[in-house]
Amino acid sequence: MNVKLAETAGFCFGVKRAVDMVNEQIATGKKPIYTYGPIIHNEQVVSDFERQGVSQIPEGSDLSSLEPGIVIIRSHGVSRQIKEDLEAKGFEIVDATCPFVLKIHRAVEKYSREGYFILIVGDPKHAEVCGIIGWICGERYAVIQNEEDAKNFSLETGEKICIVSQTTHNFNKFQELVEIIEQKGYDVIAMNTICNATEERQREAASIASMVDAMIVIGGRNSSNSQKLYDICREACENTYFVQTKEDLSMSALQSFDCIGITAGASTPNYIIQEVQRECLK
Ligand code: SF4
Repeated sequence: MNVKLAETAGFCFGVKRAVDMVNEQIATGKKPIYTYGPIIHNEQVVSDFERQGVSQIPEGSDLSSLEPGIVIIRSHGVSRQIKEDLEAKGFEIVDATCPFVLKIHRAVEKYSREGYFILIVGDPKHAEVCGIIGWICGERYAVIQNEEDAKNFSLETGEKICIVSQTTHNFNKFQELVEIIEQKGYDVIAMNTICNATEERQREAASIASMVDAMIVIGGRNSSNSQKLYDICREACENTYFVQTKEDLSMSALQSFDCIGITAGASTPNYIIQEVQRECLK
């Protein structure tokens, strides 16, 4: 079996930075250490940190029931309110929010203060989008996910709108939605806040998927960028499989293919990618 592994598979800059920050805090020996929500969307990485004594503060928890300690903010970021609440309760904050996400926080804060309506292209339930919403001043915002949402969106003609995107959104789809909004006669500032890591990964995944007989996408169940990779690969290659680890591989299904491509989401550790690759080469 011929296996082609994507060069962009695995940790992106922001995820590597967040994981390194947790390891640095563990190395200090200070306790207790928490992460606000899962530090990244990968169950294996989160469980590994739990074994080393790092607990998760579930979203919306009662902070007063916890012993104050170090809290590492996840790479997806949190709202201003959550940061302020943690500080007020005496937690020491280590901010692992990816700098590309922080850039969106600063943009929505600035433009909402200047009277712009904020339009976010992304998944309204995703932690990154919830964090972004939490930096908008006021309530003038909406989240759109698809063409239908963009077509149904309406404000007074001439309104000022700032459009940003969840960092992991599909670049082409973002552009399509921006064009639909621009045609409605608003004063639009569209900021392409999709990070390069995502774009490059998506482009390479699509290219490999178009050349192979089957494609494997490795990622966490809750990882938005991994799910998007799956969708992109599925468009180019109908035999696309989503796995979290090598245990999910169906080798009987894969053995009928001559050439298999592998890519992985930005929160997938290298050792899991290598295990999947080795399994396919057996
Ligand atoms: S995908 Fe991009 S924005 Fe998200 S954590 Fe990685 S580098 Fe940061």
